[in-house]
Order: sequence, then C-alpha cells, then structure tokens
Amino acid sequence: MSKKQFKSESKKLLDMMINSIYTHKEIFLRELISNASDAIDKLYYISLSDENISFNREDFYIRVSADKDSRTLTITDTGIGMTKEELEDNLGTIAKSGSLAFKSENEAKEDVDIIGQFGVGFYSAFMVADKVTVTTKRFGTDDAFVWESEGADGYTVNETTKDSAGTEIVLKIKENTEEENYDEFLEQYKLKGIVKKYSDYIRYPIKMMVSKSRPKEDNKEEYETYFEDEILNSMVPLWKKNKNELKDEDYNNFYKEKFFDFSDPAKVIHTSADGSVSYNALMFVPSRTPYDFYTKEYEKGLQLYSNGVLIMEKCGDLLPDYFSFIKGLVDTPDLSLNISRELLQHDRQLKLIAQRIEKKLKSEFLSMIKNDREKYNEFFAQFGRHLKYGIYADFGQHKEVLEDLIMFYSSKEKAMSTLEEYVGRMLPDQKVIYYACGENVDRIAKLPQVEAVADKGFEILYFTEDVDEFAIKMMMKYKEFDFKSVSSDDLDLKTDEEKKQEEELKEESKDLLEFLKESLGDKAKEVIISKRLKSHPVCITNAGEISIEMEKVLKASPEGNNFKAERILEINPDHAVFATIKKLFETDKEKLKKYTSVLYNSALLIEGLSVEDPVEFSNNICELI
Ligand code: ADP
Repeated sequence: MSKKQFKSESKKLLDMMINSIYTHKEIFLRELISNASDAIDKLYYISLSDENISFNREDFYIRVSADKDSRTLTITDTGIGMTKEELEDNLGTIAKSGSLAFKSENEAKEDVDIIGQFGVGFYSAFMVADKVTVTTKRFGTDDAFVWESEGADGYTVNETTKDSAGTEIVLKIKENTEEENYDEFLEQYKLKGIVKKYSDYIRYPIKMMVSKSRPKEDNKEEYETYFEDEILNSMVPLWKKNKNELKDEDYNNFYKEKFFDFSDPAKVIHTSADGSVSYNALMFVPSRTPYDFYTKEYEKGLQLYSNGVLIMEKCGDLLPDYFSFIKGLVDTPDLSLNISRELLQHDRQLKLIAQRIEKKLKSEFLSMIKNDREKYNEFFAQFGRHLKYGIYADFGQHKEVLEDLIMFYSSKEKAMSTLEEYVGRMLPDQKVIYYACGENVDRIAKLPQVEAVADKGFEILYFTEDVDEFAIKMMMKYKEFDFKSVSSDDLDLKTDEEKKQEEELKEESKDLLEFLKESLGDKAKEVIISKRLKSHPVCITNAGEISIEMEKVLKASPEGNNFKAERILEINPDHAVFATIKKLFETDKEKLKKYTSVLYNSALLIEGLSVEDPVEFSNNICELI
C-alpha cells in the first residue's frame, strides 16, 4: 500500500514539534497512556450497557515494556481499538484537537512556548521516536490493521492480525544526541518515574515487567535477577476517596511526599463542588513558611489535574497572591488535556474554580479563627505578614477578602485580636480604632502616647510589623471606623477643661515655645504644650500623612529620604522638667538650647528612632550632669 500524506496541518505541527526545543519530552508517555485509558473507558461503557458482553475489571489494563536491544518502547492497551477508518481519521489528522488552531493564532509571536503545556496527543510520540507503529483491532470486528509512520513524510496502513481487541503502539526510540538523552526512555526507573509523576491516578492498572534481584536459593551470598509484573500507578487518587475513609495520617503522608515538606500540614482542606463547575480540591496550609517562600524562585500555584491526569504542575491562576503559601491540587473533568498554558489563562471554568477556591480558603480561615484559635495564631505567626501585604498590594482591592483575617496585638486582651473583635469591644463613645506603632509589644506599651490613650479606657492595637500601618492606610476604614494613630496630632481626647488650660499655658509660654522651636530648627515643625502626657516629660507626635513609623520603613527604600514625617515636640506642663525649662528661659538661654536638644533626642529614642548626632547628645548630657 502506498504512503499517504498527513493532512497538511498535521504535517506542520509534526515538524514544529519534532524540531522545537521542547523541554518536557517525557510527556509523550502521559499522552499515550491517557489515550489508552480513554480507549478502555469506551469499551468499559459499552460493556456496561450491553448484557451480552461481560468483562472483569482485571481484563482492562495498560502495559508498558521496553526493549533496549531493539530500542523499542511498547504501550499496549485492552481498550476498544480502532477500525481502519478510525485509524486514518484519528491518526492522519490533528486538526480536531484544536492544537493547530492555537498554533496559527500564535504564529506571529515567536517566543511563545507553543508546545509548552500542551496536551499534544498521539503525535508527541515523534518527539522521542523515529518510527511509530500502531497495531489495532476494533472490539467487535475481526480485522486488524497496522499503521506506521516515520514522521512528517506520511504514513501507511496495512492489514494484519491481532488476537484480541485493543491497541499496541511501538516506538522506535531515537538515538542519543549531544543535547538529548533518549536512552533513558528505555530505562525501567525512568519509565516508572514518568508514570508515577503524570499518570499515577489513571483508573486502570499500568503494568510493567520489572527486573528485581534476590539472593539465590542455593547460595544466599549471590544474587540473581528475576522479573516480576508490577503495577506502577496507585489508581485511585486520594482526593477522590471518601473523606470518612481517610485518616489524618493519609493526608499528612500524601502532603509530605508530594510537596516535599518534613512537617505535617497545619491544616488540610479537602473539598469538592458540583454544579456550574465540578472539581475536587485538596489543599494544605503548611505549618511553616516554605524555605524558599521569600525568594524569586518560589512559584505559587496548585497542581491541575484533568480526571486524574496531571496537566500542570503549578497552576498559578488558581491561587491569589495573598494565598500563595497554599499547596495542593485541583482535579476537574471540565478541562480537556489539550489545553495550553496560554489558553488556560482565559478559561472560564478555571476562573470559576479559582473564585470558589478563594472563597473556600477564606471561610476555612474564618472558621479557624472562631473554632481553633490556637491553630490560627500559629498560622498567623507564619503567614500573617503575607496576608497584610495582600491588603497593601494592588491598591487595597482585596481588602474585603482579607480584612477579617488579619490580627494585631491588643492592649486590653494582651493577645492577638481581629478587627471585628476589637470593634466588638469598643467603648460606647469611641469613634475610631486606636493603634500605636513600634518595634515590639513591650516598647509600644511604654510609649507616652499609649499611656495617654489607655488612661481614657480605650483599647489600642499594637503595630509591630513594617507592613501594618501601610496596610491599614490602604484599607482606610474597617467597617465604618477610621484608624487613628495614638501619635497623631489630632487625637482629640482632651476634655474641654484640659483644652482651656492648654490654651492658657500656650498663651503664657508663647515666647518660650518660640525659642524652643527656633533652637530645634527644622527638626520639629512645632513645639507645643500638651495635656496628653502623664508621667513623661516629652514626646514626639506627628502631623500629616506620613507617620514616624512609616518614615522608618520608607528610609530603607531607595527613595526613602524623600519621605519625612512632620514632627511635633510635645511638652508636659505638669512635669518638673517644664518648670526647669521655664526658669532657664529667664536665666540661661545657652543652657536651655542644650536641654532642648537632649529632650528632643530622648523623645526620638522613646519612639525607637536613633538620635541625630550621638556624639553631641552624649556631650550635652555629660555637660549637664
Ligand atoms: P486526542 O486524544 O486529544 O483526541 P490524539 O492525537 O491523542 O488526540 O488521539 C487522536 C484520537 O485517536 C483519539 O481521540 C482516539 O480516538 C484515537 N486513539 C488514540 N490512541 C488510541 C488508542 N490507544 N486506542 C484507541 N483509540 C486511540
């Protein structure tokens, strides 16, 4: 029989595939095994609906065998097989798989990884084989056919004989080249590995004769090689099993093995959905921050399976950035194998799944907050900062998802508190959420400004992380409440009486304050008398949008020096220091200048800022002592 040409599109794709520098050549095996599994499915369904045909589950299997001498790799299935027409239609053209349509759309863009994550189907065999021979017999017919091709120049179909229905595909594996090792596709360990990686959950057994060794019967010192049939795949995916059949241990082992962690996950989320989209998802919250989490190499994503067959190792579109620490997988029958990474991004089903997953994760975290607080605290210690960055990123557009998941240390509870909990405890006349920034809880607790607000009975949230204040600035409000720093200049906590006193003192000490301001130069925007202070002589507060805490963080950035908080030096009129200052103003202005500098610098120290000129500071102190 003369050689037939492939339909032209197929030819183009074949060329492209064979010549492209495709890095995952090993997926050819996944493709052929998936086809075999589909073929068995078809026969299985026929047998279910026809009483005259009876099969045992054991009759269905896929076999992989390699022969190094002849450089052949054979994949056999006991599926439905193909008629002559089907052979020609299915293997003579590739157009219907949609792959080609995609190719031409992208023809212009050269560096698109065309075959990237493709389900390239049967043709992928040519990535590793010089010649492919398909022998097949359609179930219910007597004729068998053999299809043969050496690649792009065409194929032949001839009659042959075959005992039982099904298909056998023989690949003549290419010789090694400098760049490419093809030998490994004939190695038992490699084949086992590929099957495990991509086809572990194919529902039919994938068998292979494997060589093993054992001590000899007559001489236990010596070993002999023997062959044994082995099933390479585990067949039923864990996530498709019934939840009540599964123990914690099953999940934990699965997680550790699959996601290379030494510790058990902090939380397992096993869920499924049916309806507009259907999927099974199995997700894990790691108990520790992955070691590479803060590196560029860390890639977020869930594994994506289509009916138990892995189609993408890390599908980033399934996870929002702020949940990027989640590990796991999604299995959905709604996606075809023939989908590229580029097409996936636009896939409506996938978007729906991603939305559901985000919702599910959020609700799991909320229930942890209510029902398993200790665990949530541990989780938050690991990933809380990441959630706060999530609020700050993208101009706060994700605040609705995240605002109820973040926590801060509460001055009243002496523990981490959510914003909802804080609001629940607000005093009847309280209008804002108070917060204070600092390096750690102890230092914040000692801030003079904190003392002033706490004295009025208000609860204060302690912001100890860089990101905290930035995140809430992005949020603007929680429910109807504004956030207010205890260090801001417009706290408005004073009673009318206190305000009146302040006014009077201000009037009285006008010249003194002016002198102080002048001696500080542009370090402080203003020097004021303040009734907010109780035991401390001075403090620094700030006016304007940028707080002192934000200034500290911004300083670390390249353009940081452009951001400076407007400082206000507040002086406690009831403190002995004030009396001294007043006296000096009358008697020794030079000395007063030094005092002012020392006071200003010590206020900076309390804020966790460094003194501007340590040598001058220390000289001043020594001199005054
Ligand atoms: P796809 O599987 O995406 O349709 P392929 O190129 O892999 O594309 O296969 C084309 C068609 O060839 C399949 O749809 C199927 O009808 C047929 N086919 C491939 N392999 C087998 C097989 N082992 N047994 C029966 N039919 C097969």
